[in-house]
Amino acid sequence: MESLKGKTAVVTGASRGIGKAIALRLAELGANIVINYRSNSSSIEELVKEISEKGSKAIAIQGDVSIFSEAEGIMKKALETFGTIDILVNNAGITKDGLIMRMKEEDFDKVIEVNLKGAFNCLRHVTPIMVKQKGGRIINISSVVGVSGNAGQVNYSAAKAGLIGMTKTAARELASRGINVNAVAPGFIQTDMTEVLSDKVKESTLNNIPLKKFGRAEDVANAVAFLASSNSDYITGQVIHVDGGMVI
Ligand code: NAP
Repeated sequence: MESLKGKTAVVTGASRGIGKAIALRLAELGANIVINYRSNSSSIEELVKEISEKGSKAIAIQGDVSIFSEAEGIMKKALETFGTIDILVNNAGITKDGLIMRMKEEDFDKVIEVNLKGAFNCLRHVTPIMVKQKGGRIINISSVVGVSGNAGQVNYSAAKAGLIGMTKTAARELASRGINVNAVAPGFIQTDMTEVLSDKVKESTLNNIPLKKFGRAEDVANAVAFLASSNSDYITGQVIHVDGGMVI
């Protein structure tokens, strides 16, 4: 993979799981990393240290991406610290599962606010910076369920499908400015988010994965690293599925 030396990447929701793996992978390629997190700060200092041991610089910025002004604050602080933002990874996400007939209005709203509006908030505030720089990479973390749907996730699948539409529109709007926008759609990846699912759900999901194994956060990070690097210069508006073949 081409080096990311001298580049700065903002990764939202990078305190754990897929976001953390992305932060580490981009740091390995030489990028300065802005680790955004919402509340879980216990392991952040350790992650900053782990990144510096890889020879890259890192700062942690607390901020809730679902709040417009906080997303703006994250981008401002990142720019003040490193002078550029070359890569934005919209990774922050939550689930609040439930069947349609029982889903509370606030659970629908909250998932849309974080997973979809949060990505817009960051996109909105990073775009002027990248346009001024005449280039950049934006990678949105969608999901297999944004493509195929999933019973019990009407809020989450709507947000993740919305992210794919947002990716395609942003790709068209920003291509002439040298900004590539793509999405990654992970399948079932072993993180805190999927750890809470019952054994029954895990077993039935596994049966639907042609490669017959769950994914690792690093599998997603590798796809993001490709999209963040110059190896993917001629790719924009696409969705890369990292799902062991769940969507073919
Ligand atoms: P995770 O382990 O639950 O981690 C979620 C991360 O998002 C945490 O760092 C969390 O911060 C952060 N976050 C949540 N709300 C936020 C907010 N409002 N502002 C800023 N940060 C916020 O989840 P994951 O499995 O790594 O998932 C990462 C992304 O991949 C999500 O978008 C998810 O939907 C997507 N995805 C996951 C899977 C999977 O199988 N795991 C599959 C498809 C897609 P705190 O630590 O502070 O709470």
